Amino acid sequence: MATEALGSMNNVSMEPSSMAEIHKTYFRQGYRLVGDHLHSAVKVCQWTKESLRHNRVCYKELWYPPVQSHRCMMMTPYLGCNYHCLYCWRLHSHDRPGLNWKEFPLTVEEFDEPAKIVEQAIEKRRLLLTGWKGNPKADRKKFEEALKPTMMTMSLTGEPTLYPQTSELIMEAEKRGMITFLVTNGTVPEALERLSPLPFQLYVSVSAPNRKTYLSVVKPLVKDGWEKLNRTLEILPSLNTRRVLRLTMIKGWNMMGQEEYAELVKKAQPNYIEVKAYEWVGQSQKRLPKNAMPYMRDIEEFAKKLSRHSGYTVKAKFEPSGAVLLA
Ligand code: SF4
Repeated sequence: MATEALGSMNNVSMEPSSMAEIHKTYFRQGYRLVGDHLHSAVKVCQWTKESLRHNRVCYKELWYPPVQSHRCMMMTPYLGCNYHCLYCWRLHSHDRPGLNWKEFPLTVEEFDEPAKIVEQAIEKRRLLLTGWKGNPKADRKKFEEALKPTMMTMSLTGEPTLYPQTSELIMEAEKRGMITFLVTNGTVPEALERLSPLPFQLYVSVSAPNRKTYLSVVKPLVKDGWEKLNRTLEILPSLNTRRVLRLTMIKGWNMMGQEEYAELVKKAQPNYIEVKAYEWVGQSQKRLPKNAMPYMRDIEEFAKKLSRHSGYTVKAKFEPSGAVLLA
Protein backbone atom coordinates (compact mmCIF):
# COMPACT_ATOMS: atom_id res chain seq x y z
CA MET A 1 0.00 0.00 0.00
CA ALA A 2 1.56 3.34 -1.12
CA THR A 3 2.47 5.37 2.02
CA GLU A 4 1.82 8.67 0.24
CA ALA A 5 -1.73 7.45 -0.45
CA LEU A 6 -2.07 6.64 3.26
CA GLY A 7 -0.90 10.15 4.07
CA SER A 8 -3.46 11.63 1.70
CA MET A 9 -6.18 9.43 3.20
CA ASN A 10 -6.46 11.85 6.15
CA ASN A 11 -5.91 12.40 9.78
CA VAL A 12 -2.86 14.51 10.30
CA SER A 13 -3.28 13.40 13.92
CA MET A 14 -3.10 9.75 12.99
CA GLU A 15 -0.01 7.61 13.03
CA PRO A 16 0.30 6.30 9.48
CA SER A 17 0.71 2.82 10.91
CA SER A 18 -2.82 2.93 12.20
CA MET A 19 -4.17 3.71 8.72
CA ALA A 20 -2.07 0.85 7.36
CA GLU A 21 -3.53 -1.36 10.12
CA ILE A 22 -7.07 -0.31 9.16
CA HIS A 23 -6.45 -0.94 5.49
CA LYS A 24 -4.96 -4.35 6.29
CA THR A 25 -8.10 -5.13 8.28
CA TYR A 26 -10.30 -4.09 5.38
CA PHE A 27 -8.16 -6.18 3.02
CA ARG A 28 -8.48 -9.24 5.28
CA GLN A 29 -12.26 -8.72 5.32
CA GLY A 30 -12.33 -8.96 1.51
CA TYR A 31 -12.50 -5.24 0.72
CA ARG A 32 -10.47 -3.83 -2.09
CA LEU A 33 -9.81 -0.11 -1.95
CA VAL A 34 -10.17 1.73 -5.25
CA GLY A 35 -8.98 5.07 -6.60
CA ASP A 36 -5.92 7.15 -5.65
CA HIS A 37 -7.30 8.62 -2.44
CA LEU A 38 -8.66 5.37 -1.02
CA HIS A 39 -12.08 6.63 0.11
CA SER A 40 -13.90 4.02 -2.03
CA ALA A 41 -14.01 0.23 -1.88
CA VAL A 42 -15.54 -2.86 -3.48
CA LYS A 43 -16.23 -6.33 -2.08
CA VAL A 44 -17.83 -9.51 -3.45
CA CYS A 45 -21.17 -10.01 -1.68
CA GLN A 46 -21.85 -13.28 0.12
CA TRP A 47 -24.94 -13.74 -2.04
CA THR A 48 -22.91 -13.37 -5.25
CA LYS A 49 -20.84 -16.31 -4.01
CA GLU A 50 -23.98 -18.25 -2.95
CA SER A 51 -25.44 -17.71 -6.39
CA LEU A 52 -22.27 -18.98 -8.12
CA ARG A 53 -21.81 -21.91 -5.76
CA HIS A 54 -25.35 -23.10 -4.95
CA ASN A 55 -27.61 -21.10 -7.25
CA ARG A 56 -29.09 -19.53 -4.09
CA VAL A 57 -29.89 -15.83 -4.60
CA CYS A 58 -30.54 -12.83 -2.33
CA TYR A 59 -34.08 -11.60 -1.67
CA LYS A 60 -33.43 -8.57 -3.85
CA GLU A 61 -33.18 -10.86 -6.88
CA LEU A 62 -36.49 -12.45 -5.84
CA TRP A 63 -38.31 -9.22 -5.03
CA TYR A 64 -36.82 -6.55 -7.29
CA PRO A 65 -36.21 -7.50 -10.94
CA PRO A 66 -33.88 -7.10 -12.77
CA VAL A 67 -31.49 -7.69 -9.85
CA GLN A 68 -29.15 -10.67 -10.36
CA SER A 69 -27.07 -11.56 -7.30
CA HIS A 70 -24.16 -12.94 -9.35
CA ARG A 71 -23.95 -9.77 -11.45
CA CYS A 72 -24.21 -7.31 -8.54
CA MET A 73 -21.23 -5.09 -7.64
CA MET A 74 -21.33 -4.09 -3.95
CA MET A 75 -19.25 -0.95 -3.37
CA THR A 76 -18.99 2.35 -1.53
CA PRO A 77 -17.64 5.72 -2.71
CA TYR A 78 -17.29 6.90 0.90
CA LEU A 79 -15.42 4.73 3.42
CA GLY A 80 -16.63 6.78 6.33
CA CYS A 81 -19.92 7.21 8.12
CA ASN A 82 -21.65 9.74 10.34
CA TYR A 83 -23.42 6.97 12.24
CA HIS A 84 -22.09 4.37 14.65
CA CYS A 85 -25.00 1.95 14.43
CA LEU A 86 -24.92 -0.78 17.05
CA TYR A 87 -25.95 -3.37 14.44
CA CYS A 88 -23.34 -2.38 11.85
CA TRP A 89 -21.05 -5.30 10.99
CA ARG A 90 -18.17 -3.10 9.84
CA LEU A 91 -15.25 -1.93 11.95
CA HIS A 92 -15.78 1.41 13.69
CA SER A 93 -13.14 3.63 15.15
CA HIS A 94 -12.55 2.65 18.79
CA ASP A 95 -13.99 -0.81 18.22
CA ARG A 96 -10.51 -2.21 18.76
CA PRO A 97 -7.85 -0.88 21.12
CA GLY A 98 -5.31 1.31 19.30
CA LEU A 99 -7.47 1.48 16.20
CA ASN A 100 -9.09 4.87 16.18
CA TRP A 101 -9.36 7.24 13.30
CA LYS A 102 -11.51 10.11 12.21
CA GLU A 103 -14.31 8.42 10.25
CA PHE A 104 -16.36 11.49 9.62
CA PRO A 105 -15.88 13.67 7.80
CA LEU A 106 -13.23 11.92 5.76
CA THR A 107 -10.56 14.53 5.17
CA VAL A 108 -9.15 13.30 1.90
CA GLU A 109 -6.93 15.63 -0.07
CA GLU A 110 -9.43 15.30 -2.89
CA PHE A 111 -12.13 12.88 -3.97
CA ASP A 112 -11.49 10.52 -6.84
CA GLU A 113 -13.32 11.01 -10.11
CA PRO A 114 -16.50 8.91 -10.52
CA ALA A 115 -15.26 7.22 -13.71
CA LYS A 116 -12.07 6.08 -12.00
CA ILE A 117 -13.98 4.71 -9.00
CA VAL A 118 -16.43 2.71 -11.12
CA GLU A 119 -13.76 1.48 -13.52
CA GLN A 120 -11.42 0.32 -10.77
CA ALA A 121 -14.27 -1.21 -8.73
CA ILE A 122 -15.27 -3.34 -11.73
CA GLU A 123 -11.65 -4.36 -12.29
CA LYS A 124 -10.90 -5.21 -8.63
CA ARG A 125 -14.15 -7.15 -8.33
CA ARG A 126 -13.24 -9.10 -11.45
CA LEU A 127 -9.85 -9.95 -9.89
CA LEU A 128 -11.58 -11.07 -6.68
CA LEU A 129 -13.83 -13.37 -8.74
CA THR A 130 -11.06 -14.96 -10.81
CA GLY A 131 -10.54 -17.47 -8.03
CA TRP A 132 -13.95 -18.95 -8.89
CA LYS A 133 -12.84 -19.88 -12.42
CA GLY A 134 -11.34 -23.17 -11.28
CA ASN A 135 -14.00 -23.95 -8.71
CA PRO A 136 -15.83 -27.13 -9.86
CA LYS A 137 -18.87 -26.10 -7.82
CA ALA A 138 -19.21 -22.77 -9.61
CA ASP A 139 -21.82 -22.50 -12.37
CA ARG A 140 -19.71 -21.93 -15.49
CA LYS A 141 -22.16 -19.69 -17.35
CA LYS A 142 -22.91 -17.66 -14.23
CA PHE A 143 -19.19 -17.20 -13.60
CA GLU A 144 -18.69 -15.72 -17.08
CA GLU A 145 -21.70 -13.43 -16.56
CA ALA A 146 -20.59 -12.44 -13.06
CA LEU A 147 -17.43 -10.81 -14.46
CA LYS A 148 -19.65 -8.21 -16.16
CA PRO A 149 -21.80 -6.61 -13.44
CA THR A 150 -25.26 -5.34 -14.43
CA MET A 151 -25.87 -3.63 -11.12
CA MET A 152 -23.88 -1.38 -8.80
CA THR A 153 -25.15 -1.16 -5.24
CA MET A 154 -23.77 1.59 -3.01
CA SER A 155 -24.38 -0.34 0.18
CA LEU A 156 -21.03 -1.86 1.14
CA THR A 157 -20.32 0.46 4.07
CA GLY A 158 -20.27 4.15 4.98
CA GLU A 159 -22.67 6.83 3.78
CA PRO A 160 -22.55 7.13 -0.05
CA THR A 161 -24.33 10.51 -0.20
CA LEU A 162 -21.33 12.07 1.56
CA TYR A 163 -19.38 11.52 -1.66
CA PRO A 164 -19.80 14.84 -3.51
CA GLN A 165 -20.36 13.37 -7.00
CA THR A 166 -22.99 10.68 -6.42
CA SER A 167 -24.99 11.74 -9.48
CA GLU A 168 -21.95 11.40 -11.73
CA LEU A 169 -21.16 8.05 -10.16
CA ILE A 170 -24.64 6.84 -11.12
CA MET A 171 -24.11 8.14 -14.66
CA GLU A 172 -20.78 6.30 -14.94
CA ALA A 173 -22.43 3.09 -13.77
CA GLU A 174 -25.28 3.48 -16.27
CA LYS A 175 -22.78 4.18 -19.07
CA ARG A 176 -21.37 0.71 -18.29
CA GLY A 177 -24.78 -0.98 -18.43
CA MET A 178 -25.40 -1.12 -14.68
CA ILE A 179 -28.53 -0.13 -12.79
CA THR A 180 -27.83 1.38 -9.38
CA PHE A 181 -29.08 0.82 -5.86
CA LEU A 182 -28.24 3.44 -3.26
CA VAL A 183 -28.62 2.77 0.47
CA THR A 184 -28.57 5.96 2.54
CA ASN A 185 -29.04 6.70 6.23
CA GLY A 186 -30.91 9.86 5.19
CA THR A 187 -28.69 12.39 6.98
CA VAL A 188 -27.91 14.38 3.82
CA PRO A 189 -31.34 15.34 2.42
CA GLU A 190 -29.80 18.13 0.35
CA ALA A 191 -27.67 15.56 -1.50
CA LEU A 192 -30.83 13.56 -2.35
CA GLU A 193 -32.64 16.71 -3.49
CA ARG A 194 -29.91 17.53 -6.04
CA LEU A 195 -29.42 13.87 -7.12
CA SER A 196 -29.82 13.64 -10.92
CA PRO A 197 -30.04 11.01 -12.24
CA LEU A 198 -31.63 9.20 -9.36
CA PRO A 199 -30.58 5.63 -8.60
CA PHE A 200 -32.79 2.85 -9.99
CA GLN A 201 -33.71 2.00 -6.38
CA LEU A 202 -33.26 4.24 -3.35
CA TYR A 203 -33.13 2.77 0.15
CA VAL A 204 -33.46 4.85 3.30
CA SER A 205 -32.49 3.14 6.56
CA VAL A 206 -34.94 3.79 9.40
CA SER A 207 -33.69 2.13 12.58
CA ALA A 208 -35.93 3.73 15.21
CA PRO A 209 -39.53 4.95 15.66
CA ASN A 210 -38.51 8.09 17.60
CA ARG A 211 -35.59 10.37 18.43
CA LYS A 212 -34.77 8.75 21.80
CA THR A 213 -34.42 5.24 20.38
CA TYR A 214 -32.63 6.66 17.32
CA LEU A 215 -29.89 8.17 19.48
CA SER A 216 -29.33 4.89 21.34
CA VAL A 217 -29.34 2.65 18.22
CA VAL A 218 -27.49 4.63 15.53
CA LYS A 219 -25.30 6.83 17.78
CA PRO A 220 -25.10 9.64 15.21
CA LEU A 221 -21.87 11.64 14.87
CA VAL A 222 -23.98 14.58 13.67
CA LYS A 223 -26.08 16.62 16.08
CA ASP A 224 -29.33 16.91 14.08
CA GLY A 225 -29.36 13.45 12.51
CA TRP A 226 -32.97 12.66 13.48
CA GLU A 227 -34.24 15.96 12.01
CA LYS A 228 -32.25 15.37 8.82
CA LEU A 229 -33.59 11.84 8.47
CA ASN A 230 -37.13 13.19 8.84
CA ARG A 231 -36.40 15.83 6.21
CA THR A 232 -35.28 13.01 3.90
CA LEU A 233 -38.52 11.11 4.57
CA GLU A 234 -40.49 14.28 3.73
CA ILE A 235 -38.81 14.70 0.35
CA LEU A 236 -38.92 11.01 -0.56
CA PRO A 237 -42.40 11.13 -2.22
CA SER A 238 -41.06 13.76 -4.65
CA LEU A 239 -38.19 11.55 -5.83
CA ASN A 240 -39.28 9.79 -8.98
CA THR A 241 -37.67 6.38 -8.52
CA ARG A 242 -38.27 3.11 -6.64
CA ARG A 243 -38.15 4.03 -2.93
CA VAL A 244 -37.69 1.54 -0.12
CA LEU A 245 -37.57 2.01 3.66
CA ARG A 246 -35.28 -0.54 5.32
CA LEU A 247 -36.15 -1.19 8.99
CA THR A 248 -33.41 -3.17 10.70
CA MET A 249 -34.88 -4.82 13.78
CA ILE A 250 -32.86 -5.37 16.95
CA LYS A 251 -34.67 -7.37 19.65
CA GLY A 252 -34.96 -5.36 22.86
CA TRP A 253 -33.87 -2.12 21.21
CA ASN A 254 -36.19 -0.87 18.46
CA MET A 255 -38.95 -3.45 17.91
CA MET A 256 -41.66 -1.32 19.53
CA GLY A 257 -43.68 1.78 18.55
CA GLN A 258 -45.23 0.46 15.35
CA GLU A 259 -47.59 3.44 15.38
CA GLU A 260 -44.62 5.82 15.33
CA TYR A 261 -42.94 3.80 12.56
CA ALA A 262 -46.24 4.05 10.66
CA GLU A 263 -46.12 7.85 10.97
CA LEU A 264 -42.67 7.82 9.36
CA VAL A 265 -43.99 5.53 6.62
CA LYS A 266 -46.90 7.90 5.93
CA LYS A 267 -44.43 10.78 5.64
CA ALA A 268 -42.15 8.89 3.21
CA GLN A 269 -44.79 7.00 1.16
CA PRO A 270 -42.26 4.40 0.00
CA ASN A 271 -43.05 1.84 -2.70
CA TYR A 272 -41.79 -0.88 -0.37
CA ILE A 273 -40.91 -1.43 3.27
CA GLU A 274 -38.39 -4.08 4.27
CA VAL A 275 -38.57 -5.27 7.86
CA LYS A 276 -35.28 -7.09 8.34
CA ALA A 277 -33.76 -8.92 11.28
CA TYR A 278 -30.47 -7.71 12.71
CA GLU A 279 -27.80 -10.33 12.03
CA TRP A 280 -25.26 -11.06 14.77
CA VAL A 281 -22.24 -10.84 12.47
CA GLY A 282 -18.92 -9.05 12.14
CA GLN A 283 -17.97 -6.27 14.49
CA SER A 284 -21.54 -5.94 15.78
CA GLN A 285 -20.91 -9.05 17.90
CA LYS A 286 -18.79 -6.83 20.13
CA ARG A 287 -21.64 -4.35 20.58
CA LEU A 288 -24.77 -6.50 20.89
CA PRO A 289 -25.62 -9.87 22.48
CA LYS A 290 -26.62 -12.80 20.26
CA ASN A 291 -30.19 -12.71 21.56
CA ALA A 292 -30.58 -9.23 20.06
CA MET A 293 -31.07 -11.12 16.79
CA PRO A 294 -34.86 -11.51 16.28
CA TYR A 295 -36.42 -14.78 15.15
CA MET A 296 -38.36 -14.86 11.87
CA ARG A 297 -41.59 -15.06 13.88
CA ASP A 298 -40.63 -11.82 15.67
CA ILE A 299 -40.13 -10.10 12.31
CA GLU A 300 -43.42 -11.42 10.95
CA GLU A 301 -45.20 -10.29 14.13
CA PHE A 302 -43.70 -6.82 13.85
CA ALA A 303 -44.55 -6.60 10.13
CA LYS A 304 -48.17 -7.59 10.81
CA LYS A 305 -48.54 -4.82 13.41
CA LEU A 306 -46.83 -2.28 11.12
CA SER A 307 -49.18 -3.33 8.33
CA ARG A 308 -52.18 -2.63 10.58
CA HIS A 309 -50.94 0.87 11.43
CA SER A 310 -49.54 1.87 8.04
CA GLY A 311 -52.02 0.31 5.62
CA TYR A 312 -49.20 -1.45 3.76
CA THR A 313 -49.66 -5.16 3.05
CA VAL A 314 -47.24 -8.01 3.71
CA LYS A 315 -46.23 -9.26 0.25
CA ALA A 316 -43.38 -11.68 0.81
CA LYS A 317 -40.90 -13.08 3.29
CA PHE A 318 -37.36 -14.45 2.96
CA GLU A 319 -36.31 -16.53 5.91
CA PRO A 320 -32.55 -16.85 5.14
CA SER A 321 -32.20 -13.07 5.66
CA GLY A 322 -34.99 -12.69 8.22
CA ALA A 323 -36.80 -10.25 5.93
CA VAL A 324 -40.45 -9.39 5.25
CA LEU A 325 -41.61 -7.18 2.38
CA LEU A 326 -44.57 -4.80 2.65
CA ALA A 327 -46.00 -2.79 -0.23
S1 SF4 B 1 -28.39 -6.90 -3.90
FE1 SF4 B 1 -27.32 -6.77 -1.94
S2 SF4 B 1 -27.49 -8.83 -1.08
FE2 SF4 B 1 -27.97 -9.00 -3.28
S3 SF4 B 1 -26.05 -9.52 -4.24
FE3 SF4 B 1 -26.24 -7.31 -4.27
S4 SF4 B 1 -25.18 -6.54 -2.45
FE4 SF4 B 1 -25.58 -8.73 -2.20
